[in-house]
Amino acid sequence: MTKVVHKFGGSSLSSAARYQAVAQIVLSQCQAKDCVVVSAAGKTTNTLVKLWDSYQQDDNQGFSDILLQIENHQIELICALLNADEQRALLGCLRQELQAIGEACKHNTLHEASLLAHGEVWSARILASYLTQLGTKALNIDARNLFKLHHGQLLHQQNKQTCNELLSEPMIYIVTGFIASNMAGQTVTLGRNGSDYSATLLANYIDASAVSIWTDTQGVYSTDPRKVASAIKYSKVCRSQANLLARLGNPVLHAKTLSPLKNTAIKLQVRSSFEPEASPTEVVKEGYSKEKRFITTFNELDLIRVDGLGQGEVGELSQLIQHSIHHFETDGEAYLLVPAANTHTVLQALSGRANIVESALQGCAIVAPSADILYLQSQARQILSRQDVVVRFSHTASKYALFLTDQAIDSDTLALLHDKLINKGRELGVIIAGLGNVGEVFVEQCRKQVSRLHDQLDVKIVALVRSKEMLFCASGIALNNWQQQWQNEAVAYENDELIERIAELDYEHKVVVDITASESFSKLYPSFVKQDCHLISANKYAGTADSQWYQTLREQLNERELYWRYNTSVGAGLPVNFALADLQHSGDKITHIEGVFSGTLSWLCSSFDGSKPFSELVLAAQKMGYTEPDPREDLSGRDMQRKLLILARDIGLNLDVKDIQLEPLMPAELAQGSWDEFLTRRDTLDAFYNQQHECAVGQGKVLRYTGALTLHENGNVTAKVGIAFVDKSSAIANLTPGDNIFVIKSLWYDNNPLVLQGPGAGKEVTSAGIHSDLYWLVQRLK
Ligand code: ADP
Ligand code: ASP
Ligand code: MG
Repeated sequence: MTKVVHKFGGSSLSSAARYQAVAQIVLSQCQAKDCVVVSAAGKTTNTLVKLWDSYQQDDNQGFSDILLQIENHQIELICALLNADEQRALLGCLRQELQAIGEACKHNTLHEASLLAHGEVWSARILASYLTQLGTKALNIDARNLFKLHHGQLLHQQNKQTCNELLSEPMIYIVTGFIASNMAGQTVTLGRNGSDYSATLLANYIDASAVSIWTDTQGVYSTDPRKVASAIKYSKVCRSQANLLARLGNPVLHAKTLSPLKNTAIKLQVRSSFEPEASPTEVVKEGYSKEKRFITTFNELDLIRVDGLGQGEVGELSQLIQHSIHHFETDGEAYLLVPAANTHTVLQALSGRANIVESALQGCAIVAPSADILYLQSQARQILSRQDVVVRFSHTASKYALFLTDQAIDSDTLALLHDKLINKGRELGVIIAGLGNVGEVFVEQCRKQVSRLHDQLDVKIVALVRSKEMLFCASGIALNNWQQQWQNEAVAYENDELIERIAELDYEHKVVVDITASESFSKLYPSFVKQDCHLISANKYAGTADSQWYQTLREQLNERELYWRYNTSVGAGLPVNFALADLQHSGDKITHIEGVFSGTLSWLCSSFDGSKPFSELVLAAQKMGYTEPDPREDLSGRDMQRKLLILARDIGLNLDVKDIQLEPLMPAELAQGSWDEFLTRRDTLDAFYNQQHECAVGQGKVLRYTGALTLHENGNVTAKVGIAFVDKSSAIANLTPGDNIFVIKSLWYDNNPLVLQGPGAGKEVTSAGIHSDLYWLVQRLK
């Protein structure tokens, strides 16, 4: 059975109500043997740090005031959450511990790490008691018994063994974050914000499949969402960028969080304990997510130059001050960025090898793909200067640019930087495949539509693809002159080449618009999805592919939170897929769909009045371009069969083409042989049609070619495409030649069905239908 580690930070445990919410998450998400790692409640560690400072400064009054504050906070949590017996037990322990702290202070024997450790010990104890009280088997574990260090190094082998011995019973373990112990049994901490690291370490030791970091935001954002309302939540962030952000002091993940996940398949998610249903951010291995743009801010830092920085020295200094220290080299000099409150300690530790270059700095860093850094650096500099923010020091590396400033970067400036540098990167790259009748009109309509969408998302057409050639331009093709650009820059088309170019596209969002009628192109959809492309298809092949292929594609799209729109694959621009989705989202259940979904067959049947042979109408339709090049494709009914299958899948039915009975609008023997041979046997078709027509007339009805699907009360489905004799008064009988009609029955539209009718083909309406899909997509992504 796979195990999961859940970590709840202080922000998730800031009040009794938050403990209750956390307990609900644990109850609903955890199974026996899962581990829950907890931080100290709310800002308890900060308060304990203050307590330590007052101890060091011999500020006795301050010390007892802070101790009292801590005591009250803990009592409040215990009393609000636990029943009388548990309260008594926990309050007893708490009093003893606080008394011991007071004594140690008096006798000057207080130990910093042991003092800070109390925060986590208290929260694990309260949560375990509370869960037990709710009837769950939960055991409180002190991580000092699990994580051992020797000379500052974790003893992974030994720890793994201990964890597997101590955490093997079928219960939920509530483990203290942040703390470990050395061989002498003394407390050691893993650094401020270190419970994230505890969680991934533990996951590694117990071979967990996943770690969920539950915090007070829904995931990792482009910048602090508490400061900038338009911060973008990323569904995926790659490990190296998360790591860099952490090293730059961003609190959302601790700097060492990712190291235990190296060479493992353990999944890491950041999610909100305030909104457990919200989609999380997944921190994924390199190559599984495009690099994103971020801004993170700094407060109260000193810039220190060091002579000869030894290997591992920064880690030791970070350990010493309990804070991650960012370091970099520039012009052959090594620099450290140290929280001002810790500078003294760092200088002492580096005894004479370091000096302060700048002190009391604020600032920000932009993290982005290498290709963007120089541009972003120069833009940010301009914005800061326009905002009168004085840059005292700046440094640019391949993946980030940092600015150390006099003033703090306030929310307004941060929002401005974010708007200009991060949101700007939010583009939708559109790959258009198929430049036939509809494709050309679609591209033409794009000229206006793209500028209309501009306020919502920067939409750029990056590729135009034909079967033999393609034009690919990552910065966007100029639509008023694409034919010229095509002439100059189009290259031979290869599937692999297209996929490779898409993989390199540095766009926040990508969509492949498939206006081809090619089955082989539709087979590339899984490769597009792997490159994080949304899909819009007018092409029917993917939507009607065999169930297994189709379901896998759907799952891959879901996994990556990608959309697939195919409004025009049935009924051209008619909003039939919208209507079906809408009814179902509103709680309705579709029971029957019937209609004419082929413009060609609609025209042929409605135009036939017996004055001309049927084959003559077929030839006329062919001449007017209403049919496939070989009109038998239309007469076979296969096109309508596919459309009915798409509709069936839209209403949640798991059908395949073969499940839809097919009766062609021609005798079976005419399907064989060439078109010319067919022409010599026109009479057979006419005899067949006349006979059917006369039968219909004999019954006082008219002949139409229809598709019909019924979901019976017992759950059975009947689906058929073929010749139907319909009442003269029915909507299907009175269809304008060439129009499509969809008659939909549902729980709500039962006796009086919902009818959608109109042109079911035509380049303008089809192209407009594809634009409707694109518009829909932009609304979701903006
Ligand atoms: P926890 O107590 O759960 O460990 P932290 O306070 O350590 O939580 O980290 C979460 C906080 O990080 C958020 O409340 C948010 O204000 C801040 N933060 C800063 N930058 C980001 C970012 N890019 N994405 C998400 N949160 C961020
Ligand atoms: N409680 C510790 C801190 O505040 C560890 C953590 O929260 O991750 O730094
Ligand atoms: Mg944290």
